Amino acid sequence: MVQLNSEDVESHFAKGGTRRLFTMVRRALVLRCPNCGSRGLMKNWFKMVERCPTCGILIEREGNDYLSGSVMFNLVLAELIFAFVLVAYLLIVWPKVNWDVLGIAAPLGMAIAPFVLFPFSKLVWLAVDLALRPAHASELRDSKPQGVGGG
Ligand SMILES: [Zn+2]
Repeated sequence: MVQLNSEDVESHFAKGGTRRLFTMVRRALVLRCPNCGSRGLMKNWFKMVERCPTCGILIEREGNDYLSGSVMFNLVLAELIFAFVLVAYLLIVWPKVNWDVLGIAAPLGMAIAPFVLFPFSKLVWLAVDLALRPAHASELRDSKPQGVGGG
């Protein structure tokens, strides 16, 4: 497990890391590689390629710790968005709330949200991780087809 100390993180963001973070999060929100911005990371909605086909960055950078952080981020993000939508709905329709519909829609929404947000949260998590721990050259594999660039 990689340790981060607060001085390293503050120093990184003082050197323009915030702009890089926003760029990478923006790429992640349109399901592109946070590192290079290329497409082609999705096999299907629930399965991603192991590495970016362009820059070669691992989508899951480390083992179990990275995956559990990604899953936790997905759940927190999904439930926060769900809570925001629920409160907005209540504020809009108050006091004429249809509690019968809400009693079905609320648990259904809570169950569905993490699946809908899965690829977005996974790539946003990668973007944040890359902002805090920039990729080393050893993490990037030359994944371009052999023989390209020969003039
Ligand atoms: Zn990439």
